[in-house]
Amino acid sequence: MYFMRVLHISAECYPAAKSGGLGDVAGALPKYLTSAGWESAVVIPKYGLPWTTKHRFKLLHVGAYFLNDQYHPYTIEEPLQTDLDFSLYMVNLPGLFDRPGIYGDAEKGWYTDNTERFISFQIAILDWVKNMDLKPEILHCHDYHAGLVPFLIKFSKIFEVLKKIPTVFTIHNAEYAGSFPWLKKDLLPEFPVEVNGLLDWSDQINPLASAVKNAWAITTVSPGYLLELQQFSSGLEWLFSNEKRKCRGILNGIDHDVWDPKTDTYLNAHLPDKVAYELKDIEDFKLNQKKQLVSQLGLNQNIPWITFIGRLVREKGADILPDLINTVLESGTGIGFIILGSGEHYLHDLLRSMSYKYSGKLHVRIGYDEALAHQLYAASDFILMPSWVEPCGLNQLYALRYGTIPIVRAIGGLKDSIVPWKEKNGNGILFEAFSVVDAKNAIDEAFELFNDRKKFEEVRKFIFGIDFSWQKSASEYVKLYDELN
Ligand code: ADP
Repeated sequence: MYFMRVLHISAECYPAAKSGGLGDVAGALPKYLTSAGWESAVVIPKYGLPWTTKHRFKLLHVGAYFLNDQYHPYTIEEPLQTDLDFSLYMVNLPGLFDRPGIYGDAEKGWYTDNTERFISFQIAILDWVKNMDLKPEILHCHDYHAGLVPFLIKFSKIFEVLKKIPTVFTIHNAEYAGSFPWLKKDLLPEFPVEVNGLLDWSDQINPLASAVKNAWAITTVSPGYLLELQQFSSGLEWLFSNEKRKCRGILNGIDHDVWDPKTDTYLNAHLPDKVAYELKDIEDFKLNQKKQLVSQLGLNQNIPWITFIGRLVREKGADILPDLINTVLESGTGIGFIILGSGEHYLHDLLRSMSYKYSGKLHVRIGYDEALAHQLYAASDFILMPSWVEPCGLNQLYALRYGTIPIVRAIGGLKDSIVPWKEKNGNGILFEAFSVVDAKNAIDEAFELFNDRKKFEEVRKFIFGIDFSWQKSASEYVKLYDELN
């Protein structure tokens, strides 16, 4: 017998499967919801990732779903011996997810059958839920990979028993909608033809748009992003404006158990466990982290280091990084840059080549490295986020937690969480336009601040004390669930 009030349906969940913020949220929010009285479980696909291969699993349910005129087997499995504070289930779909990547991998690139993979994932989950004696009170779907669920339980005959379960759809990233042509309609279980419009956007089946139309409630991961989607969302603006009454923005929190400078298992040295910190405690912690990092990467300890961590794509502003770094380093300012990420191949090549030219001032690590990311948040002086769009952004919140000052473009969740350091409750540096000039001015401001040691240390001490934990945000989801029940 399962006991869960909310089932979160997600493609990612830290620590089992993470490629970005979705994984962090699905791996933290359920824990905080459970302690707030909404017992939560998460279901993700069973990938062939290292975490999965390292764990043993208990078989909970064996089923089959109908797709493409055939029955396909699936199982629901639960990892044994985890230290998670919520139930994590995995759908094992042979041939679809037992691969080394989430959406793609280094060898094969983006998987070309992602449409089939995530449709199968959603249908298998609904078949499992249909078979539960005690069903969840809420189905909470995350991003387009779970976006067809609200439509399927509303209109597909085979899932009719689930019709009354309220659905919440959270948008972590509206850049990916998962659209596919109507020619593939038969991948979905049968539904009445007159509701075609509730799946459609621009003559395609659009899981993101369908979720916005059919879910009982929509949330975005920051209030600012919700407003921006109504003005700029790659053709979905009208839909977001039209459905705004059932939408709300809830800023993500961070998991204080995982991201804790006192205990972080990826760090070699920690902040002492104290009730109140002196400037000296923080200075010692930061200096220690910086020393370790600069010796590990062969960098200069005496200059400020600005780090970028994330997907090397336009969304994150990665395409202005080469020009920006060139401009700053050519201007002779004594600043260093560290880049950790992967994405567009032209950026991999360009940034790598620049790192040879600016050896000692630019360090580039192409790839995904959870441990290095934690060490960089702890050791850097500033974190740079020149995002083109930013639904919430977690990097700036992790940076604050480790005493690293964010330099961010004033957009989406960045605007909702960062206040100019010169103002009351200031915690970072903001710039407006998506341009090298504005970003460079912000970096110059950071350099000045770094050299005004008294001010710099005051800002750093202040940001250490800011609370962006999940408690507050989780209570807003609780309020929403209560309203829907
Ligand atoms: P996204 O839009 O990519 O989900 P978020 O800011 O919401 O961006 O979350 C990014 C998360 O992914 C953070 O936990 C960040 O540290 C992590 N991350 C991104 N790229 C990398 C990388 N190359 N190596 C390690 N962690 C990364």
